[in-house]
Amino acid sequence: MTNPFSLAGKIALVTGGGSGIGYEITRCLRDAGAKVVITGRRENMLQEAVKAFGEDVFYEVNDVADLSQTTQLVDAITSKYGEIDILVNNAGINMKKPAIEVTDIEFNNIIQTNLNAAFALSREVAKKMIPRKTGSIIMISSMAGYYGIDRVPAYTASKSGIEGLTKALASDWSKHNVRVNAIAPGFIETPMMQTAMNSDPDRMDKALNRTPMGKFGKPEDIGLAAVFLASEAASYITGVSLRVDGGNAIGF
Ligand code: NAD
Repeated sequence: MTNPFSLAGKIALVTGGGSGIGYEITRCLRDAGAKVVITGRRENMLQEAVKAFGEDVFYEVNDVADLSQTTQLVDAITSKYGEIDILVNNAGINMKKPAIEVTDIEFNNIIQTNLNAAFALSREVAKKMIPRKTGSIIMISSMAGYYGIDRVPAYTASKSGIEGLTKALASDWSKHNVRVNAIAPGFIETPMMQTAMNSDPDRMDKALNRTPMGKFGKPEDIGLAAVFLASEAASYITGVSLRVDGGNAIGF
């Protein structure tokens, strides 16, 4: 029997793949057999990541928030590496400050990167997946899509939007065998979490204390979940938001 978790012969695109969770998603997809193209804004970071991976990982410089670049990105990847089988909308930003101090520009910037860009890229990739009758699109959600977190109003709105978008796109595209799912990470040890938590020990304790497994997650935990959702093993799974959170969302 062939391995249902194998991604051999697949082409994957991981946005923000040069660091944190995106880096480990890339490593796990690559280890499962895929060729992976990572994107980001900083070319030196992408170059270093590609060098560290050694083979089967490539990069394209791209700012997901600049929607005028979206079609060009998909065309460039398709012509250089082949049709995209797996898209992981991982790039994201956060900002922590009291809601009353958040400006409209700041709010919009976060929605643009975390939500609008995920829609635009999914749409452009799906245009090519639908005629081929195959594809797996994975959104990266958050506990902020499950419950209210103070001082991150735009981030929470964006991830709640991702939860809804996942269901809407799954309803639209699954009949073409293009599956759309989300992974909702709990609190995962990355630069983004360290920035949000290091200066705020009370928040860190609160996050940990409501996590039944009693520990933070690792980026690899998200990468392995992405391999599953991208693979044939998940061929009848669409429209789900898979929590990878040590039980955080259901913790007391
Ligand atoms: P991170 O800051 O380490 O990585 C985010 C990546 O996105 C970086 O590579 C960054 O360069 C890239 N990025 C940001 N804006 C971009 C843009 N405009 N264009 C291209 N790339 C851009 O953070 P992370 O913790 O690895 O987060 C990855 C994803 O996981 C995000 O969507 C985040 O919301 C989500 N998430 C993280 C946690 C956590 O605990 N770390 C929890 C829930 C969800």
